[in-house]
Amino acid sequence: MITQESKHDFDVAILGNGLSGSMLATILGKQGVSVVLIDADQHPRFAVGESTIPHTSLIVSLLAEKYGLPELEHLVDAERMAKHVTTTCGIKRHFGYVYHRSGQVYDPKEGLQFGTSARDENHWFRQDTDAYLHNLAVHHGAVPRQKAKVTGLEINKQGVKLQTSTGEEIRARYLVDGTGYKSIVAERFGLRDNPCRLKHHSRTLFTHMVDVPPFDEAHNPLPISYHKGTLHHCFERGWFWVIPFNNNPLSTNPLISVGLTIDPRRYPKPDMSAEQEFNEFLKLYPSVAEQFKDGKAVRPWVSTGRLQYSSKQTIGHR
Ligand SMILES: Cc1cc2nc3c(=O)[nH]c(=O)nc-3n(C[C@H](O)[C@H](O)[C@H](O)COP(=O)(O)OP(=O)(O)OC[C@H]3O[C@@H](n4cnc5c(N)ncnc54)[C@H](O)[C@@H]3O)c2cc1C
Repeated sequence: MITQESKHDFDVAILGNGLSGSMLATILGKQGVSVVLIDADQHPRFAVGESTIPHTSLIVSLLAEKYGLPELEHLVDAERMAKHVTTTCGIKRHFGYVYHRSGQVYDPKEGLQFGTSARDENHWFRQDTDAYLHNLAVHHGAVPRQKAKVTGLEINKQGVKLQTSTGEEIRARYLVDGTGYKSIVAERFGLRDNPCRLKHHSRTLFTHMVDVPPFDEAHNPLPISYHKGTLHHCFERGWFWVIPFNNNPLSTNPLISVGLTIDPRRYPKPDMSAEQEFNEFLKLYPSVAEQFKDGKAVRPWVSTGRLQYSSKQTIGHR
């Protein structure tokens, strides 16, 4: 029986236009599926998750090939990226790990690098890669709704009904929630485990900086600069990350992504700003402090709570 409820504006409503939501919207749009792509925010916007790994790039390449979307392949190849997407991304020739002991200068013997694969990985400047993917989705037919927070959500056997902060009501046959950590569906249906059932515990502080030089010269007996990859300054139950966007001859971006990830059980959140806390850790590790002595944040620091989360279920009706 055809009821009012089974009239749909779209086949699929995707919540969240980050890289996963936009990539799915691109693929579905290319297949002729009608898609609405909804996000509370607007591109370009800051995001972390910048250092790709071979598995990510392989998956993107497979999707590009399977669905006839060479535009996705542009994201995994540095030259194609600079030509077709943006000149703001860095390259990642290796994963670099160096170990630091409190109060001591770093011992170059306690460092290692391992390669990425046959090709370089990338340091994605997410505000540009994500905007590219969003625009690509629209190019392939997705209908964008930016600055539209989802304020109401009903799912029943006939379909999905959404209300947004712009006053719109949207009906779709299926719903995909790509809103990540703040998942609308998990919130609406109480799906998060509390406490999270994952064993790992970490929280993080991060920003983007200028004037962070390569760690190298004094410290690196290896033939390749640590600056050519993602550098992890590791210490007891924590690590700093250094993800340069300026390490690629094709890049015009002077920024470096900088962060500090720590175990909150060992280092509970103190009563100070994220920048102060970062500086307190630098005081413990003189070789890391040396690298950051001229570094200047170009955007506000972010300090998170515990990063891990889990859900009771990830699929359901519609
Ligand atoms: C500190 C940190 C470091 C990381 N580093 C790496 C890394 O080096 N390499 C790596 O591969 N991964 C990394 N990750 C993981 C990576 O960031 C994520 O896997 C990736 O960003 C997920 O993309 P996404 O599209 O699923 O979600 P997101 O990029 O988070 O997008 C979610 C979207 O949902 C929207 N949204 C949220 N709530 C609502 C709402 N109520 N209504 C409408 N829209 C909403 C947001 O505006 C956003 O656009 C890191 C993650 C963290 C936290």
